[in-house]
Amino acid sequence: MSTVIANTDIVLPDRVLEDGWLRGDGNIIAEIGEGAPPTSAAMVRLGGHTLAPGFVDIHVHGGGGSSFQDADPGDVAAVADFHRRRGTTTMVASLMTRPLADLVHSLAALRELVADGIVAGVHVEGPFLAAAHCGAHSPDLLRAPSPAAVDALLSAGEGTLAMITLAPELPGGIAAVRRISDAGVLPAIGHTNASYDTARRAIGAGARVATHLFNGMRPIHHREPGPAVALLEDPGGTIEIIHDRKHLHDSIVTGLFSRLPSGRLALVSDAIAAAGLDTGRYDVDGLEVTVHDGEARLTGGGPLAGSAITLSDAVRHSLTAGGDRHSVLTAASRTPARTLGLEDQAGSIRVGRRADLVALDQAHQVVAVMSSGQWLGRPPR
Ligand SMILES: [Zn+2]
Repeated sequence: MSTVIANTDIVLPDRVLEDGWLRGDGNIIAEIGEGAPPTSAAMVRLGGHTLAPGFVDIHVHGGGGSSFQDADPGDVAAVADFHRRRGTTTMVASLMTRPLADLVHSLAALRELVADGIVAGVHVEGPFLAAAHCGAHSPDLLRAPSPAAVDALLSAGEGTLAMITLAPELPGGIAAVRRISDAGVLPAIGHTNASYDTARRAIGAGARVATHLFNGMRPIHHREPGPAVALLEDPGGTIEIIHDRKHLHDSIVTGLFSRLPSGRLALVSDAIAAAGLDTGRYDVDGLEVTVHDGEARLTGGGPLAGSAITLSDAVRHSLTAGGDRHSVLTAASRTPARTLGLEDQAGSIRVGRRADLVALDQAHQVVAVMSSGQWLGRPPR
């Protein structure tokens, strides 16, 4: 059946189309136009809201009380559903540091769920991380990226594994970056104490993503710029940022949006299972986490343990802070999709693409979500 969504600003790949309309046919975007829409029985008028591509989250561990970590099919579906209903129509499952055998097991178990399209791939964060910047990752389980350990992940994750976050300064780190990149998986630099030079070598070896820039890495020093500066200088690299108003100061986020070319920033949630839950103490994959005022920390005043937001919150914070609408919504959709090589499936509003859409009101709140041509919940009126 064909649906028409009209009277809306539409975020296209190259601009925002004002007072546009879009016709969906089945699960596909069939037509996009301006002004008066074609007549349709299933007409939705959005009254000046913004219609953006469904969000794409390349760093998310859980939400709504469940997590991806153990690859339990019920949990994975619950996390995906939690985020989808809030606008994230495409996401990877991010796994935290665990014993290698557990990660291998989860990767193998997630294969079917990736094939079914519940998640678009898997991101493994660890265990090749720097103890000095490991955040909530268990320091006892960190290890160097030996060829055997890297290969164990790559082979268990064949066809499923999208990205591995690692600290390139560890013994064998640069070779591991090259090995990961050669296997068609994205090496991401994160939880790292690398010097500027080592980070540059990792970028030369194929690293293409900064895992939550500034968080979990050696800070900038004027005589040792460290990994953040090297990553910002790489013109082809994607910069992940967590904009929950806890991980980064607003001025850092607005500065990045105004200084980096469009197409470099990817908003990520880094959400854990506690996202969407009320203030309280939770067991999150064996860690005791306290959620308070939208912040998730290891209990006892420990480090931030991921975030308690969804990508819709990051988008709202960025727009409220004055971010350009096209740039912010591109950072939540097209850039992360392109980073993962999913650009022809997700992240853009174009004729022929899957109808994954999110409608935002004037206060930047998500008011409706369409996934594969289906409204999740009641269609907006
Ligand atoms: Zn992290």
